[in-house]
Amino acid sequence: LEAEPIAFSQLILDSLELFAPALKKRNISIKTDLDDEIIIMGDMNRLHQVFCNVIDNAIKYSFENGMINIALYQKEKRAVVIVRDNGIGIPKKELDRIGERFYRTDKSRSRETGGTGLGLSIVKQIVALHNGTMKIESEEGQGTSVILSFPIVE
Ligand code: ATP
Ligand code: MG
Repeated sequence: LEAEPIAFSQLILDSLELFAPALKKRNISIKTDLDDEIIIMGDMNRLHQVFCNVIDNAIKYSFENGMINIALYQKEKRAVVIVRDNGIGIPKKELDRIGERFYRTDKSRSRETGGTGLGLSIVKQIVALHNGTMKIESEEGQGTSVILSFPIVE
């Protein structure tokens, strides 16, 4: 794993930029609240891959005219990112299995968006290589929050 200092908010904005056409197409709005002073050590390309996967999911599993919120803040010595959508959500009984390779919920399998069910398993691996954590909170029919945390460079 490469490790270089990374301006975290910029990395998130760079990832987000790739999804401008998808957001526009589905009329999904984005709100960001990013602390732009946070630096973490990591592999730029891998972390980019993390945010592309998480943002892709937030869009894919949102309803038309939905809203996505991305927050980045420091808590103790960690950088915390929350990507929250108000989309289809994940049923409680399936939440534990999210992030297993190839696991997709019934609801998402029945969607026309497609997907292999690998995105979050890759995210989990990359996050772990950065001594990070991933947690998912979700309410079926209400939305999902993906919460990532990474050690901060002082
Ligand atoms: P891929 O990312 O490989 O194209 P995928 O999106 O189905 O396919 P993951 O990103 O690993 O796979 O996500 C696994 C499953 O978790 C999804 O199929 C979906 O059921 C559920 N999921 C992930 N993110 C969300 C979200 N934001 N809202 C609702 N369900 C989600
Ligand atoms: Mg995905």
